[in-house]
Order: sequence, then C-alpha cells, then structure tokens
Amino acid sequence: MARCPSCGAHRDEGDDYCPVCGETLTEVQLSEATEEPWYERPGTMLVLVLFFWPAALYGVHKTGQWTHPSNRWILGGCLLMAIVWVVLL
Ligand SMILES: [Zn+2]
Repeated sequence: MARCPSCGAHRDEGDDYCPVCGETLTEVQLSEATEEPWYERPGTMLVLVLFFWPAALYGVHKTGQWTHPSNRWILGGCLLMAIVWVVLL
C-alpha cells in the first residue's frame, strides 16, 4: 500500500492525487521522466535517426534492448536512413 508523501494517508497506486489532502502524486514520476538518459528519450532518438543514425544505433546499444518493441521504429529508421545514405553518397 502506497502512502501520500504529503499527509501520509493511504492511497491507491493509480491515484493521480491524494484523496485526503489533494496533493498531486504524479510529480515524482514526471521528474523521473525528465532524468531519463538521452537514449531513452524518443524525441532525441528521432532526431538522431534522421540526422545521424549511427548515434541512434549506439543509443539502442546503450539500452541493451535490441528486440524491445519501443526500439523497433529506431532500428527500422536507421535501416531506412542507411539506405538513403547509400543512395545519396
Ligand atoms: Zn495527502
């Protein structure tokens, strides 16, 4: 059972705010999201795929999750950009 960090009241895991004091309980998750490493940020990875796909591949290597569904679009994008490079160069 989770507790409200503000008033200590019991709350459900899925609650967005404390039913007792109204404290917002999603801020912790948001701050954790902003501290993600660059290779776990979809926006950063998208830019890398478009402008320098080898760096995006390195990012996937850093996650170590080559077969993870959320990384498939990166791998597909890198493959596509590799083909584009070969065609252009
Ligand atoms: Zn509370």
